[in-house]
Amino acid sequence: MKTSFHKEFPNHFKLPDRINRLGELAYNLWWAWNPSGMRLFLLLDRRLWEMVTHNPIAFLHQIDPQRFKDAEKDTYYLEEYDRVMAKFDAYMSGMDAWFAGSYPQFKNNQMAYFSFEFGLHESMPFYAGGLGILSGDHLKEASDLGMPLIGVGFIYKEGYFVQNITEDGWQETSHYHFNFEEMPIISVVDEEGKPITISVELPGREVKTRIWMIQVGRVPLFLLDSSIPENQPKDRNLTSRLYSSDLEVRISQEILLGIGGVRALRRLGYEPSLWHMNEGHSAFLTLERVRELVKQGSSFEDAAAIVRKNNVFTTHTPVPAGNDSFPLWLIDKYFPGYWEELKLTREQFIEIGKQTQSWGDTFSMPVLALHLSNHTNAVSELHGEVARDMWNFLWPEKKVDEVPIESITNGIHVGFWLARRMGLLFERYLGVDWYDHLDEPDLWTRIENIPDLELWDVRRHMKRKLINYTIESARDHWQSGNRHASQVIADGVMLDQYSLTLGFARRFATYKRADLIFSDYDRLLRLVSNRDMPVQIIFAGKAHPADEPGKLLIQQVYRAAKDYRFCGRIVFLEDYDLNIARLMVQGVDVWMNTPRRPNEASGTSGMKASLNGTLNFSVLDGWWREGYNGSNGWAIGNDVDYDDPDEQDKKDAASLYDKLENEIIPMYYQNRAMGDVSQEWIAKIKENMRTLAWQFSTRRMLKDYLQKMYLPALKER
Ligand SMILES: *Cc1c(COP(=O)(O)O)cnc(C)c1O
Repeated sequence: MKTSFHKEFPNHFKLPDRINRLGELAYNLWWAWNPSGMRLFLLLDRRLWEMVTHNPIAFLHQIDPQRFKDAEKDTYYLEEYDRVMAKFDAYMSGMDAWFAGSYPQFKNNQMAYFSFEFGLHESMPFYAGGLGILSGDHLKEASDLGMPLIGVGFIYKEGYFVQNITEDGWQETSHYHFNFEEMPIISVVDEEGKPITISVELPGREVKTRIWMIQVGRVPLFLLDSSIPENQPKDRNLTSRLYSSDLEVRISQEILLGIGGVRALRRLGYEPSLWHMNEGHSAFLTLERVRELVKQGSSFEDAAAIVRKNNVFTTHTPVPAGNDSFPLWLIDKYFPGYWEELKLTREQFIEIGKQTQSWGDTFSMPVLALHLSNHTNAVSELHGEVARDMWNFLWPEKKVDEVPIESITNGIHVGFWLARRMGLLFERYLGVDWYDHLDEPDLWTRIENIPDLELWDVRRHMKRKLINYTIESARDHWQSGNRHASQVIADGVMLDQYSLTLGFARRFATYKRADLIFSDYDRLLRLVSNRDMPVQIIFAGKAHPADEPGKLLIQQVYRAAKDYRFCGRIVFLEDYDLNIARLMVQGVDVWMNTPRRPNEASGTSGMKASLNGTLNFSVLDGWWREGYNGSNGWAIGNDVDYDDPDEQDKKDAASLYDKLENEIIPMYYQNRAMGDVSQEWIAKIKENMRTLAWQFSTRRMLKDYLQKMYLPALKER
């Protein structure tokens, strides 16, 4: 395939020849899911590696050059280096690529994957949460399978936001100002070395974006950025932050992503054979593809029929208000020139995205995507049911269960989310090539071979790591001189590594009910402060800056964390990110999730937990409704729908307390008095890994996408 662009690496590290490929490794995220690759950096200077939030570019810039000289003389290091670089080369050469071997007829068909956010690694915090992490995992898995996928999104130079909690538990926000030259990001330039730009028309002006690239293993990700001098000052900020509440910013961003994204791929020389919209934000891409054909002489209908065949759309949002839809005055402001180019009237144009709400007609991005895609899916079975019902109005002649929306349950990238030490156990007891077979259920029956004590040792190690992290960041806060003593308790200085530890970390939206466990405050006090069988609970998560009820929930948790009666065993970790997520899903004993059913489309953090031997204790919503088998974790409430949310909350709370008090706590502390581990607990960990790890992996997920969405789209062309 011929592309028409060049890559410019801004950094010239002063690396000695013998290890100079560290620079190359730093610019390919492959290391982020290959612990041996990451260790080539970490081993040079552990403390600096932590200080730069695991960012290899900043690391190589800031490291004391003496460390390179030492490494050059260190035979152990050099052996590691050679071994890892050989592994990296073998991977990048794609010799073993599964996709080309399985579907040689499609190996040159590029697949474009559009998403509003990509959560790839903590060193690049321009993601908000679940959707972004899923997109990041999708790319990593596509790389592992050798799929010819290309990502398209935005780089946000101020990121999402940094969360800071005041003494009274109120969330305050501040922003990053990234220096892209200190990130593993490559500038995309033309033959003369000038940044390549593309442009879109916004009312009364043209807006340009330049293009950055991140190499995710074998998969390239292109990120648009409007902060360039050619743009008017206010347009330079269009791509500064995620999820603005300003509708004009939002529609401009979505025009940039959908329309600009297609133009960017064309400019770079790509000719995708399928176009996957991860959520509706990028749905304007459907129109841009139609416009290309109309310009060549097609009618709108003919062009639409063609692009529909290879458009793929994934919906993620069972909450109606969570779906993007724009008031018609915005469409009138932003699209008059465009509908002319499509040879449509205003009325015809609006019809493609029309959704009638109680307050009038709007232009809905999911409706647009559904109208112009032949392949659409929801992200769990239950979400599929909800989505078919929600969008039934688009197919009025069909019954709910005939609405053509499939379901493909989300997954997580195993290499990225698995603790290194757990990976070593898998190598030893599942087989050295376990990673190549990770979506095969049979492989996981070998979990039984892991000796209980070895498994427990790894679990204890991960918990210590989490608690050390917590205490060290509490110490940093304290040392900064502007932290009240009671906040340091909430930061977690009193955590201990022997107590049963629950984790709850997610976006603080009201339907996620972080307050459910506090609904009987006295009962929780008794459970937590029991001296024989204490319970610790670690919370983390951000509320959208405009979500006041969400911020009140954080405050409620924070006040409990400072309540002396909980004796320092309730903790709130500030500024939830990928790093904290990794430490928590690996380090706690139990992962708790209490959404109000059926609002959690899938959820993925529980999958990360189970892979690492952390047991799930969750409402039967999203993925857990499919994963729970009665013995591989615990369910909160039943598989039933409620009409009255108050009744639902009451029933779920009662179930939560009963299970915790009568099953989970006693099982964890069984035999403890004798200093033994709880055999029942370890049996449950094994049952959990055996049944869940393969099923909720992106390996299984991408193969499902291939079978149900991608291959049909490629064959239809
Ligand atoms: C996995 C993850 C999420 C999504 O978790 P859910 O279970 O879907 O709520 C959000 N943020 C971070 C940092 C994550 O790692």
